[in-house]
Amino acid sequence: MNQAELKARTEQVLRDLGIDPLVIAHRTLPYFEEVSEHLLVDAETNVETGKIYRLTAAAAAAWHNMKQQAAADGVAIYLVSAYRSLDYQAGLLLAKQDAGIPPDVFFTSLAPPGCSEHHTGCAVDINTPGCDEVTGVFGETEAFIWLSANAARFGFVMSFPPDNPWGFIYEPWHWCWHSNS
Ligand SMILES: [Zn+2]
Repeated sequence: MNQAELKARTEQVLRDLGIDPLVIAHRTLPYFEEVSEHLLVDAETNVETGKIYRLTAAAAAAWHNMKQQAAADGVAIYLVSAYRSLDYQAGLLLAKQDAGIPPDVFFTSLAPPGCSEHHTGCAVDINTPGCDEVTGVFGETEAFIWLSANAARFGFVMSFPPDNPWGFIYEPWHWCWHSNS
C-alpha cells in the first residue's frame, strides 16, 4: 500500500470507531505498513505477566544485543510493549473513548491505527526496574541516559523527542529499530 492508501485505511478505521478523521487532519502523521505476523519472532516474555513481546527477527536480534550490553554496563532494561497489530491499536483507542477522553487529546500520546511504529514490528517501549512504565519519568532514569548514549550503535532511535514535528508528546520510553542506521 502507498501512503494515500494507508491514509485512507486509517480514516476508515477511525470512522468505524465513530471518530471524525478531521481530528488528525492538521497533523503530518507518517503511515506505516503493517508487518506480516509470520515475520515476527518472540523477543521477550514479561516475567510477571507472562506476556510475550514480538518483533521482526532483525529488530529482536538488535534488541537482545543492546539489552546484553546494557546489562554488562550495569543497566537493566526490559520490554513493556513491542509489536501491536492495527486491530490492537484500535482497541486502545476504544478504551480511551470509553474512558471519556476526547480524540484530540488521546491522539497526542496514542497514534491512530496505521500511524503507529508498533505495527512495523520494529518499535519497542522500554522500562527499567522501579520506574512506572510509559511515563516521562523514564527520561530521568539511568537506563534512559544509557540508551541516549548507546542505543544508536544498535540501530535504535528515540522516535518522539520533545517538540517533535508529529505532535506527539515526548516519549523517552519509545524507540524504533531502523535497519539502515
Ligand atoms: Zn511506543
